[in-house]
Amino acid sequence: MGKIDIQINRIETSRLGDVDFENIQFGRVFSDHMFVADYENGKWGNFEILPFQDLNYNPAFNSLHYGQAVFEGMKAHLDAENNVVLFRPRDNFARLNRSCERLCMATIDPEIMLEGLSELVKIDKEWIPKTDDGALYIRPLMFATDQYIGVAPSETYKLVIFTCPVNKYYDAAVKVKVEDVYSRAAAGGIGFAKAAGNYAASLLPAKIANEEGYDQLIWTDAKEHKFIEESGTMNLMVIIDGKIITPPAGETILSGITRMSVLQIARDLGYSVEERQLSVDEIIEAQKAGLLEDMFGTGTAVTITHVSAFGRNGTNYTLPPLSERKVSKQLKSELEAIKRNQKEGYEQWIIVVR
Ligand SMILES: *Cc1c(COP(=O)(O)O)cnc(C)c1O
Repeated sequence: MGKIDIQINRIETSRLGDVDFENIQFGRVFSDHMFVADYENGKWGNFEILPFQDLNYNPAFNSLHYGQAVFEGMKAHLDAENNVVLFRPRDNFARLNRSCERLCMATIDPEIMLEGLSELVKIDKEWIPKTDDGALYIRPLMFATDQYIGVAPSETYKLVIFTCPVNKYYDAAVKVKVEDVYSRAAAGGIGFAKAAGNYAASLLPAKIANEEGYDQLIWTDAKEHKFIEESGTMNLMVIIDGKIITPPAGETILSGITRMSVLQIARDLGYSVEERQLSVDEIIEAQKAGLLEDMFGTGTAVTITHVSAFGRNGTNYTLPPLSERKVSKQLKSELEAIKRNQKEGYEQWIIVVR
C-alpha cells in the first residue's frame, strides 16, 4: 500500500514507435507519461500520472520572475531480468528538499516522490533503451506557481517528474578552461542547491569558453580563483601520484551523488582518496612533474567524463592518453555495474522496481 492515491491517465497511443533508440539526442525525447503534484493550502495533492504534455502557465508565475525553481537528475537502468533499477533515488529526493529549503520553497516527503516515480517508470519501462549505455534519464522539477509578482515566497508549487530515454552523453574526452573571471557559486549563496538560476549564470562563461575552443569550464573559488571547485555541472576529481583528490562538497560545491558513489567505490577498492582543497597551481606543478595521472568529471548524465587537457590564461596542459586512465575507467565500469544491479555489496544503493 502506498502513501498516496495516484490518478493514472494513460496515453491513447504510445509514441514509442516514433523513436529511433540508436540515435537519441540527449534531453529532446520524452517518454509517454509524467507524474505531477500540486502544493496548495500547505499540503501536497492532485497526484497524477498523465501523458507528457504542456502544462498551463500564467505569465505572473513567480518562478518565471524570481527563480523559485529547482530540479534533480537521476537515472534508471534495466537489470539482467529486465526489471527497472533506480540508483540512490532517496539521495536525489533528499537533495531536492535541501534545494527547496534554500530557495524558500515547499518540501515534499521523499517517499511520495519515490512512489510516484516507481509507478511512472513501471508504466514507461519500454522507454529504457536496450543499447549498452542506454538509460532512462529522470528529471524531477519543482517551481513556484503563485500568480503574484510581489517578491515573496510562493504559496503554491508544482512538482513534475518526467523521463527521457538517453544514450551516452559525451562521446569523447573534454578540453576544459580554468575560469578565473566568472564564478558559479560563492559562500553564502546557492551553489549547493540544484537551482535553475545557477545554470543560467553559467551559460555565458561556458559560451565564452566554447568560443575559445574549450568544451567546458573548471570553476574556481569566487574569492581568489585559486582553488578548483567543479567542472561545468560535474564534480571534478584528479589523480596525482596515485591519490584520488577532489575538493570537499559543501557551500559552493554541489554534493553530487555520482561523486559520493565514486569516492566510496574507490575507497572500497583500496585506493587512497583525499577530500581537500586543491589549487590550480598544485595541479599544474603535478602535470609538469609528470605526476598528474588523470582528471575527470562525475555526474549522473555523464557518469565519468575524462578531461583531455585544461587551459589557464591561454596555456594548455595535457593529460595522459585515455588508454592510461585505468583507475577512472575501473571506477566507471564498477559504477555502471552497480547501477544495473550486477555487483554484490551495493544493494543499499539501488531500488528494483517490481
Ligand atoms: C547535478 C550537478 C552535479 C552532479 O550531481 P550528480 O548527483 O552526480 O548527478 C554536479 N555539480 C552540479 C553543479 C550539478 O548541478
